[in-house]
Amino acid sequence: MPTIIEPFRIKSVEPITMTTRQEREGYLRAAHFNLFLIRARDVLIDLLTDSGTGAMSAAQWAGIMRGDESYAGADSFYRFHDRLHEITGFDHILPTHQGRASERILFEIMGGEGKVVPNNTHFDTTLANVEHSGARAVNLPIEEGRDPRSRHPFKGNMDVVALETLITETGAEHIPLVMLTVTNNSGGGQPVSLGNIRAVREVCDRHGLPLFLDACRFAENAWFIKQREEGQQDRSVAEIVREMFDLCDGATISAKKDGMVNMGGVLLMRDPALFEKATNLLILTEGYVTYGGLSGRDLEAMAQGFKEVLREDYLRYRIRSTAYLGERLLQMGVQIIEPPGGHAIYVDAGALCPHIPAEQFPGQAVVCALYREGGVRACEIGSVMFGTHAAGDAAGGAGGADAGPAMELVRLAIPRRVYTQSHIDYVLEVFEEVLKHRDSIRGMRIVEAPAALRHFTAKFAEV
Ligand SMILES: *Cc1c(COP(=O)(O)O)cnc(C)c1O
Repeated sequence: MPTIIEPFRIKSVEPITMTTRQEREGYLRAAHFNLFLIRARDVLIDLLTDSGTGAMSAAQWAGIMRGDESYAGADSFYRFHDRLHEITGFDHILPTHQGRASERILFEIMGGEGKVVPNNTHFDTTLANVEHSGARAVNLPIEEGRDPRSRHPFKGNMDVVALETLITETGAEHIPLVMLTVTNNSGGGQPVSLGNIRAVREVCDRHGLPLFLDACRFAENAWFIKQREEGQQDRSVAEIVREMFDLCDGATISAKKDGMVNMGGVLLMRDPALFEKATNLLILTEGYVTYGGLSGRDLEAMAQGFKEVLREDYLRYRIRSTAYLGERLLQMGVQIIEPPGGHAIYVDAGALCPHIPAEQFPGQAVVCALYREGGVRACEIGSVMFGTHAAGDAAGGAGGADAGPAMELVRLAIPRRVYTQSHIDYVLEVFEEVLKHRDSIRGMRIVEAPAALRHFTAKFAEV
């Protein structure tokens, strides 16, 4: 059958509050045209982020009840540990409360003044944690990864030649680790090929450097490998995932993405000495090793979520539904970062509203137009977010230091298992309406903004 259906039935529903255009106009003004300041109940379709916004399964909710809340040695920890071991092959596994907690522990141990950390593209919290340790973060995406129109199948890849050059120029002794983000979130949710991971591994081996994965979307990445990489079609996603992890010495994971939970994270390591340091820091700042700042029930939900995310019918639906939104927008004449990524579509707001100059924040203007027209909440990733230094994006955005040419983007992130095709069709209709009167969309000016992370709290007015 050509139609790829949602591979689940809906057992529990959460009502969406319908609002009128007039009501939304009022909410928009009350929120000073900043969608972070709008109450979630006043949003019809919330595409702000795919982080921690997914729907858990019946089996995950059952796990919540089964959660063992013992301080030490809880059964839930062992179920979490065994699942992660089964999927990744790692023996040293720590739970953390979310991805950035894993990053903070990793870079407190391995980062520091004078060090340099290469990555295909650092995610914002990763960048912030590398810099917080005193180290310098360097992004090394392939050339095609910087070109929004390139349809390269693995636009998330690292430039291996640039990596070799960086190591030679910097000296391997100043590089504590090499990192690969799968999928490359800040590069548009684009995948990294197995061939590229192997090539990076080979460079690391030659220089005696450890390779870590930022593996938030490891399953989505493995699905792209199965679909697009030569010779991978007959392997299971689980096998591909296992090879990805076999190629590295450690990983940080935010379970709020492919872990299919609302809160949680993981830190994986092979080196026992490093693991001991991480363990001590975890106990100091997160919690004891068998819960890491989480409840037993959270570990239970993760153990189940990491299993469900590897189901190929789920991944087929997941990646297809994101592509569906992207391809339809392209047909409509809306320019996006091509090809569609795994978890989000990035709309080129600069191209949509060429009459709005960058200093009048075209991304913010489009985000407001989408909300006003149909109650759709998207995320600006452009001059508001990156117009000042020290921009971060705790909502899981794109950009960051040398992430490519400055673009005025609007990200539509798709929460996992939350919206059906008719919700996405509705979003497309909202876009159609916005397109009709795009010439009348007005630019924005900032009325009030904090020095850092201004996208969360800045107040705007229409120009
Ligand atoms: C979300 C994300 C993180 C940070 O995880 P949190 O759970 O939000 O702290 C790190 N790296 C990537 C690629 C992410 O998408």
